[in-house]
Amino acid sequence: MPEALKQLIHSISFLPWIGEKSAAKLAFFLLNSNENFRKTLANNISDIHTKIGTCSRCHSITDASQDLCNICQNNSRDPYQIAVVEEYLDSLTLEQSWGYTWVYHVLGWAISPVNGVFIGDLNLESLFKRITDSDKNVEIILATNPNIEWEATVHYIKEEIEKRKLKHKTTLTRLSRGLSSGYIEYADNVTLMNALKERKEV
Ligand SMILES: [Zn+2]
Repeated sequence: MPEALKQLIHSISFLPWIGEKSAAKLAFFLLNSNENFRKTLANNISDIHTKIGTCSRCHSITDASQDLCNICQNNSRDPYQIAVVEEYLDSLTLEQSWGYTWVYHVLGWAISPVNGVFIGDLNLESLFKRITDSDKNVEIILATNPNIEWEATVHYIKEEIEKRKLKHKTTLTRLSRGLSSGYIEYADNVTLMNALKERKEV
């Protein structure tokens, strides 16, 4: 097998959910595909680092040319209702629930010392700063997945908010346990809406 093809299969096999066999199939698909398609795909991949940036307020992803993401820039969103999610994809899922106008804060990770993820690795200080700087009461909606790592993270956020002397009240809420699989990304719209409507104070 040509070295270049071997390398391509090797690279593809590092993608999640792709085993060696699927990697080989995809590599052969690319080998036989239209040259324009291959060029566009290659360009899209190489643009990831130059054209996609991080929002300086909520840590969501955004066009590299703008400091704030579209949601943070949108004046019709409610900056006093902040939905805290683990990753950007969770915020995309929440965006499907119509009627809500909150903004987001993407933590990036959940605390998990066994996996080498500690408090300092999460975008938490910037969350506390947003709460501290607020000129009105804030609701923090913890739209997090119900696992041990998240329980520890939620506990830490609650403790820190209680510890800090805040001028305005901060209400911590979390989604009700109604999500069948428990995970936001697998929730259908109706289930998600109910979990949001019936959210409870932590
Ligand atoms: Zn943002």
